[in-house]
Amino acid sequence: MTDAMSSKSVEIHKGAPQESAWDYAPAPERTPVVIDDRYDLFINGDFQSPRSRRWFKTISPSTGEPLARIATANEADVDDAVSAAREALPGWSRLSGQERAKYLFRIARRIQERARELSVLETMDGGKPIKESRDVDIPLAARHFFYHAGWADKLRWAFAGAEAKPVGVCGQIIPWNFPLLMAAWKIAPALACGNTCVLKPAETTSLTALRLAEIFQEAGLPPGVVNIVTGAGKTGQHLAAHQGIDKLAFTGSTEVGRAIAEVAAVGDRNLTLELGGKSPHIIFADAALDQAIEGIVTGIWFNQGHVCCAGSRLFVEESIKDEVIRRLEHRMQSLRVGDPLDKNTDIGAINNPEQLKKIQAYVETGQSEGGRLHEIPNQSLPNKGYWHRPCFLTGVQPSHVIAREEVFGPVLAVMTFRTPEEALKRANNTPYGLAAGVWTDKGARIFEMAKRLEAGVIWCNTYNQFDAASPFGGIKESGFGREGGRHGLRAYVRL
Ligand code: NAP
Ligand code: MG
Repeated sequence: MTDAMSSKSVEIHKGAPQESAWDYAPAPERTPVVIDDRYDLFINGDFQSPRSRRWFKTISPSTGEPLARIATANEADVDDAVSAAREALPGWSRLSGQERAKYLFRIARRIQERARELSVLETMDGGKPIKESRDVDIPLAARHFFYHAGWADKLRWAFAGAEAKPVGVCGQIIPWNFPLLMAAWKIAPALACGNTCVLKPAETTSLTALRLAEIFQEAGLPPGVVNIVTGAGKTGQHLAAHQGIDKLAFTGSTEVGRAIAEVAAVGDRNLTLELGGKSPHIIFADAALDQAIEGIVTGIWFNQGHVCCAGSRLFVEESIKDEVIRRLEHRMQSLRVGDPLDKNTDIGAINNPEQLKKIQAYVETGQSEGGRLHEIPNQSLPNKGYWHRPCFLTGVQPSHVIAREEVFGPVLAVMTFRTPEEALKRANNTPYGLAAGVWTDKGARIFEMAKRLEAGVIWCNTYNQFDAASPFGGIKESGFGREGGRHGLRAYVRL
């Protein structure tokens, strides 16, 4: 990935400055954040040079400039991390739940205290708008540690009548779309239940996970309880295949998830998979349209569409199609794309150049298959970094690639339906089953649709609502197992 980044092979967009009522003065976030030149692996409570003697560059996708060099963990490094987690396991799992809770509380408090710094770093490294990292990612990450601190001494009541024992050493692999939040989703429940961890962040977004390691040090977390091995997919492969782990938790693409499931099956390991999605919105003619449009807009354009549960297929009741398209176009005009550190920005940078090319290719295919592209052509984009305008396609048929495959970008496919039966059939016509959104005024219809939609999470008259107490996860090819809530704890205990 590093080569492609340095070669800057991706199209650079230049646009005329936009003159509109929406051109607020820039409001850049000014919290200073120190980024070191080089980051090592976090093993056994310390930062250690990798045995590989290799480091890779992490860039800021909004400028294309390098931010730091990050260690590449090879097989021997992963082995060290797993051994450290194994050694720490008896001590950590023997601690009373009450004692473990104290560490989790301290970590949560330190995340809150360092929230500004973590938000800025997340935005610099990953490209997402500061208002998202500040208002969503970082507070929710702290919330996950608080929530699981609350469970640590109450596992007896979480699983009534059974004794909850830790699973052991957990290998955890996470993607780049919610870097710190995904780390919190994985680490907090594991620690609450007395497990130890080896976490592998995504290659393009390791910086906040490494800050979290500093927070573990500040909280006095015993050495080896959490270890962080950075690197690319190969590092993930070493971790997934390591004989020393008892449980594997993976969040990422369905393709890599499949490979991981095979490896885990051979090792007979406890496994949870949170994979991709092609989530539908169904909007009925009686829906509160302003509310529905806002939900659809945040559901697909939020975080540049880099959201596993992005509502990327929109099924509109035929009688309101023109009205919905008109309103989507209108709303799209007021979205600000640009510097993610600007507090007024709605849509930030695409996380990496490969992903940008992928999104561009999907939009081209969508048009060549007969879809009509709706975007704001004169919307200005910064002249360096990786950007994609929010857009949607109409004239899409269910057989089109854009209606079937996960784009993982700010691209919405709009289709229509005439009856609730047809809406259900079309919405369920996908190998994925992560999330769905239903928009209607009728309570009975909400319950009927929610019952029959094939998805792990169904939001009604709202979208993208998350909380640590609420389980999240998919069915079908979107994975299995849940994260969050009591259901999420289940994956980290033996009963
Ligand atoms: P990805 O390519 O599958 O990567 C996910 C993680 O696995 C990264 O840390 C990656 O390392 C690592 N990895 C890559 N190849 C591996 C291998 N062969 N063995 C072990 N680990 C390997 O996914 P992504 O592109 O980062 O993330 C986007 C995908 O994640 C989307 O499909 C999205 O829907 C899904 N997602 C799902 C959820 C959910 O809760 N269901 C949440 C967020 C994202 P590198 O990054 O270094 O390659
Ligand atoms: Mg980066």
